[in-house]
Amino acid sequence: MLDVKDLRKNYGPVTALDGFSLHVSAGEIVGLLGHNGAGKTTFLDIVANQIRPEAGSVTIDGRKPAKAGELLGIAPQHLALYPAMTVREHLRLFGGVAGLRRAALRSATEDVVTALQLTECLDRHVGTLSGGQQRRTQAAIALVHRPRLLLLDEPTAGADPETRQALLDVVKQQAGDGAAVVYTTHYLPELADLHASVAVVRNGRVISRGTSDELLAGLPSEVTVSFDG
Ligand code: ATP
Repeated sequence: MLDVKDLRKNYGPVTALDGFSLHVSAGEIVGLLGHNGAGKTTFLDIVANQIRPEAGSVTIDGRKPAKAGELLGIAPQHLALYPAMTVREHLRLFGGVAGLRRAALRSATEDVVTALQLTECLDRHVGTLSGGQQRRTQAAIALVHRPRLLLLDEPTAGADPETRQALLDVVKQQAGDGAAVVYTTHYLPELADLHASVAVVRNGRVISRGTSDELLAGLPSEVTVSFDG
């Protein structure tokens, strides 16, 4: 589903990606684990066609990122919501942009708000919701059009345990339905919960790949992982 080869990206003198390669199959969850500044968000921005690399290639189900918009569901690290719009209005807007028509949008909205425990928030302005409810709204936007590739950048950052579990359960469900998932986090236990394949990112490239159990047994010494998740 996602095939990334040898990406290179510089920001002026800063090398953000230096030979970043990754393959993610349909139904697979790949966790990206790495320090701040390792290059995870830059990689996701290139896949999402937000920025262009200097070199390397990305294909999403055989398409270039510029032609793959409707295949993608994206939850950015920093919340990108409109405080004066309701949850329903967000889903209508973003589901519509992704091409959902009225009946499909209605049933997709119901499915996604049920899965993310947002039913009671549906007609509330997002600015009045708790941080956890806003996180779940961001995930709902990513999921509403049933994307084939999900890009989730620290989707549980700052989330309460209930929100975190709801998000993890939904991600598992999406992968079970055949979506490919890229999930960045600083919490290895989340990746264990997801039964994810883990790619450790350092200095702009993937330096090792394995299951979370394998990584727990033999993490490279330079990789530090938080266990407070
Ligand atoms: P975090 O876990 O903090 O989100 P990350 O792994 O997502 O980090 P990136 O945000 O991709 O890392 O950053 C990779 C490198 O590129 C860092 O050194 C960062 O400072 C630099 N960088 C990222 N975006 C820009 C930008 N717009 N301008 C200049 N430098 C940038």
